[in-house]
Amino acid sequence: GGTIGIMGGGQLGRMLAIAAANLGYRTHIYAPGMSGPATEVAARWTHSAYDDAAAVAAFAAQVDVVTYEFENVDVASLPAHNCVFPPPEALEVAQDRLTEKSFAEQQGGRVAPYRKVDTIEDLRAALRELGCPAILKTRRFGYDGKGQERIDDPARAAAAWIGIGQRPAVLEGLVRFEAEFSIILCRGMDGTVVRWDAVENQHRHGILDLSTAPATGLAAEQAAQAGAFAERLAEALDYVGVLACEFFATKDGPVFNEMAPRVHNSGHWTIEGSVTSQFENHIRAICGLPLGSTDLIGRRVEMRNLLGAEAEQWQTILADRSNHLHLYGKSGARPDRKMGHVTRVFV
Ligand code: ATP
Ligand code: MG
Ligand code: MG
Repeated sequence: GGTIGIMGGGQLGRMLAIAAANLGYRTHIYAPGMSGPATEVAARWTHSAYDDAAAVAAFAAQVDVVTYEFENVDVASLPAHNCVFPPPEALEVAQDRLTEKSFAEQQGGRVAPYRKVDTIEDLRAALRELGCPAILKTRRFGYDGKGQERIDDPARAAAAWIGIGQRPAVLEGLVRFEAEFSIILCRGMDGTVVRWDAVENQHRHGILDLSTAPATGLAAEQAAQAGAFAERLAEALDYVGVLACEFFATKDGPVFNEMAPRVHNSGHWTIEGSVTSQFENHIRAICGLPLGSTDLIGRRVEMRNLLGAEAEQWQTILADRSNHLHLYGKSGARPDRKMGHVTRVFV
């Protein structure tokens, strides 16, 4: 028994709450909105701002452990006592692309060439040093490719700087990758680490489209190296819970792109495609329980996101008896909004 507090009320919170319920826990969601994908499956719902420290403290006092599915929780507002998992230090690193890249380098990882950009002059200097094409990314609050501008010509510097809202940023050199993949691991309270098969990811307009496990080709060859590196990051952060790390597979080895200190879209296939899902193992980890097997079920698993109106095709999707359909119960399908996903296990 016991109650798990989840900061964030999106589809990740919904799938965590379902996994928690299966293990006999109640969940209490903290999110500013009056409703969200997690509303119907959680026992309670607090709708206050993420930076309302008093409301967060009241929320934390009502639960046994606090976790988060939303990455832009205000770290300063999180309760100081030792009931927040993954550790807030990991969230702090992941919230800022500059801190994240320098942390990855300190741990011996390779990252795209990058420069800190605070002004348009910094951007022009960075473009001279790194060359084009390059990608300008805000340091904070970016997701699904938002807050990013690709720069193919230095003459576009000012437009790109305005495009990202003139916010503190990093300029990254474009990585010539052959594949993108992610490593998803879970670290328990006793330091045990389990890892799922590496996942190969394809994006559409900066948004995850298709995940395939296990990764094939170059990504498969580089998975062991990337997996060991992701474990090193988890150890260094004294991590507890699911950690997802994104990599580019290049001719010179894996290049670390970013990490998410939470369950991850590229791990949704684990619900049907693995003995234990990322959601269940995350709940087990933050509750101090032993972790479950991450073995693959079948030969190969595919997960496709349903963006916007694609979710309306649910009848066609269900007509194929091999498909597992997940709909998040969101109203208002903006074109690139994640409305659900479909998983197929190839036995
Ligand atoms: P997420 O939704 O995964 O959090 P995000 O908004 O944080 O996305 P990134 O993961 O940094 O953004 O970039 C989105 C995608 O853009 C990457 O998956 C990759 O396809 C491409 N991309 C980003 N940075 C680079 C780079 N330096 N070189 C080449 N491609 C890149
Ligand atoms: Mg990101
Ligand atoms: Mg990413």
